[in-house]
Amino acid sequence: MNIIMLGPPGAGKGTQAKMMVDKLGIPQISTGDMLREAVREGTDLGRKAKEYMDAGKLVPDEVVIGIVKERLGQPDCDKGFILDGFPRTIPQAEALDKVLEELGRGVEYVINVAVPNEELITRLTGRRTCKQCGAMYHVVFNPPRKEGVCDKCGGELYQRDDDKEETIRQRLRVYEEQTAPLIEYYRGKGVLFDIDGTGSIGEIFEKIAKVLGA
Ligand code: ADP
Ligand code: ADP
Ligand code: ZN
Repeated sequence: MNIIMLGPPGAGKGTQAKMMVDKLGIPQISTGDMLREAVREGTDLGRKAKEYMDAGKLVPDEVVIGIVKERLGQPDCDKGFILDGFPRTIPQAEALDKVLEELGRGVEYVINVAVPNEELITRLTGRRTCKQCGAMYHVVFNPPRKEGVCDKCGGELYQRDDDKEETIRQRLRVYEEQTAPLIEYYRGKGVLFDIDGTGSIGEIFEKIAKVLGA
């Protein structure tokens, strides 16, 4: 299954994608996670990406397209993948179509998760992320068993630099301008599925599983 998780920052794409990995046995490809790893490692890519990420802006298309292309060519993507946070612009979507076409494949499901802006801000300001495995928590809505410690791997939880209110508002503007047009792009291709992203994490997961027939 070739799946895209679409939605604004904080919609729950990553949370749901991680649960889908366990259910479907296909990998999650999170461009945000890949970029943050490059920043941590201090690679060329990381240095280039950091200033955009800290400013709440998108990293240039050609940079992100390059890393996704490479990732999709790896053997664990043969049975499918869950793209999380990519594509985020029309040129990225067009580049993805081209890459998949060359592999004789296509996008099958675009899960469009909708959540009102005020709720997104509450979710993102309370988000905590595991330094080690990238798992996401929320101080109120999805707290870890032990404060500051990841349930899954024991790693330390931190607040992302870009999960500060001012940067969040900038990221929401960027979403409206550059990413929201993808909804109609994929609707036109007949692969878009709208999901109400409010409600419990479990309820939303059930709705997505139903769409996927999983
Ligand atoms: P995205 O990947 O779309 O940016 P995340 O999956 O990281 O979103 O979720 C953003 C924040 O909201 C996290 O702190 C997460 O724990 C929390 N969250 C995710 N789904 C829900 C939900 N259904 N209700 C409340 N909080 C949620
Ligand atoms: P969130 O889960 O909150 O939506 P991400 O982890 O997906 O955030 O992305 C964090 C930052 O990484 C973005 O604000 C952007 O700077 C960069 N980024 C991630 N994916 C892309 C992409 N597909 N195109 C451009 N920039 C990206
Ligand atoms: Zn962890």
